Amino acid sequence: MRLATVSGRATVLVNGGGIDVERSSDGRFSSNTQSVYERWDEFRTFAASLDPALAVPVDEATLGSPVPFPRQVFAIGLNYRAHAEESGMEVPRIPATFTKFPACLSGPFDSVERPGKTMDWEVELVAVISKRADRVSAADAWGYIAGLSVGQDFSERTVQRAAGAQFSLGKSFRGFGPIGPWLVTPDEFSDPSNLEIGCRVNGVLKQQSRTNDLIFPIPAIVEQLSAILPLLPGDVIFTGTPAGVGAARKPPEFLQEGDVVESWIEGIGTIRNRVIAPAG
Ligand code: ZN
Repeated sequence: MRLATVSGRATVLVNGGGIDVERSSDGRFSSNTQSVYERWDEFRTFAASLDPALAVPVDEATLGSPVPFPRQVFAIGLNYRAHAEESGMEVPRIPATFTKFPACLSGPFDSVERPGKTMDWEVELVAVISKRADRVSAADAWGYIAGLSVGQDFSERTVQRAAGAQFSLGKSFRGFGPIGPWLVTPDEFSDPSNLEIGCRVNGVLKQQSRTNDLIFPIPAIVEQLSAILPLLPGDVIFTGTPAGVGAARKPPEFLQEGDVVESWIEGIGTIRNRVIAPAG
């Protein structure tokens, strides 16, 4: 099942078209995509009952984040070995966790302001929580995942590094967390743990890896985070970026106004964000 936000409304995607959740459920489910995760199992049953003939075409430009207002956003640093090496950092013993404050999240095709001269790209697999996960074992963790999406952990490196080891502000400028183009449930993949992931800037390949290279895969992240605090329905986990970020290149490369960043994951899709001047 694929869940999207179309013109601000929760929408199930079928055969390339969309079915409006609130209208097709006669109001049983809200048009607010975020609220759908609160009753995920019930929603899955409803979505499976929809008649594909009801689907209408969806314009890509109308897509918003499939998780617009999560209560908690977790982001994992240094979670691919080659990226830890290019960053000159030790591989951490527990997931190196920071947050992207929720108000920085944006849609899959939104333009993103460039707040400074050292804005960088980080394509990431995003996992969304389907039900309260408190002290969940890795063996059970996939049962708490609503689905997967593509995320960009845009990072302003100067601000990131100016705050000691506290990454969160440099990762939370306006629009710095595009997610999409939709959420795909784990059953849609032959193996949701092994997907190609990549990023292009202006059509030039910058990052390419596979998610089975994650040092802490999704089940380990859920186990370790939920040992500390409960994960809530609709919470978001950015799982870390592979090698090839701009700051680690020689010489370093950073995003310029007008650049177009494309981020993709096999079996999910591609998001595309243009870098623009700040509104001022
Ligand atoms: Zn990241």
